[in-house]
Amino acid sequence: MSVLVVGSVAFDTVTTPFGQATEVVGGSANYFSVAASFFTPVRLVAVVGEDFPESHLEFLRSRGVDLQGLQRVGGKTFRWVGRYGHDFNEARTVETQLNVFAAFAPKIPEAYRDSDVVFLANIDPDLQQDVLGQVKRPALVALDTMNYWIAGKPASLRKTLSQVDLLVINDAETRQLAGESNLARAARTIQGWGPRILIIKRGEYGALMRNGQDWFALPALPLEGVQDPTGAGDSFAGGTIGYLASVMRFDDATIRRAMVYGSVMASFSVEAFSLERLCTLTAPEIRVRYRQFQRLAQFDGPPEA
Ligand code: AMP
Repeated sequence: MSVLVVGSVAFDTVTTPFGQATEVVGGSANYFSVAASFFTPVRLVAVVGEDFPESHLEFLRSRGVDLQGLQRVGGKTFRWVGRYGHDFNEARTVETQLNVFAAFAPKIPEAYRDSDVVFLANIDPDLQQDVLGQVKRPALVALDTMNYWIAGKPASLRKTLSQVDLLVINDAETRQLAGESNLARAARTIQGWGPRILIIKRGEYGALMRNGQDWFALPALPLEGVQDPTGAGDSFAGGTIGYLASVMRFDDATIRRAMVYGSVMASFSVEAFSLERLCTLTAPEIRVRYRQFQRLAQFDGPPEA
């Protein structure tokens, strides 16, 4: 089944201790779409300005991403400027220019309205809400957000969350959203607002899932060649939700497996700036890394103490 995504398509300027990339293609929906496209067809809802390269749109089409829902309008594409120190888990936003997103009204094409899986990638929660109002009855609605919106539009975000099944955010945002520093209690508070399932991304430490009353923890692969963590969260979401949409089962065991695919996609994404690594990725490489994850946290034998 295909997955509908709404989010940002952007130009990013990123500085890490390993280098800088200036005005490279990025954006939450962009990373998500490419990562998810390895598992399932993707329908993209977003806006770009006149300055966005046609060649990248052509690449998305070649990956099976449907661009009927992508508007191209007069003006400049969304821009994000970010910086990372040696702690890659923490992105510092230097500048956010909404540009064409400031006046964007998503219009869901007729062919997208029956989408079974909807991913509301990181974008203005009003736009996320607008999209939800235009689709029929998705089997799964997932959402990502960030500190910019948690602080800037808390009421709108809470309203959108009440219609969400699965929330994917990082640990600092979980604490900020719940106003609670204990992660376990923060997760329970947020579940009370709507989402039955929470996936908490913990950067180089992996990811946690709270599903109903159950917890699941997945480590991240220790990687030597990390270049740029930008897009890790969206690539994680793309692998996770893309896999779920491909199997259309949402039981606990399936979501655990989906998180491994999410972690695999994030691990590739961070090995280069922008979407460079995802653009050259192949399905056999994904399978090899899935096996590496499987091995990572495996141990046997009964407790002996
Ligand atoms: P992440 O996967 O969390 O690293 O997300 C990185 C992407 O989020 C970048 O490519 C940015 O273009 C995009 N981004 C940053 N700030 C915002 C924002 N306020 N709204 C939407 N997208 C954003």
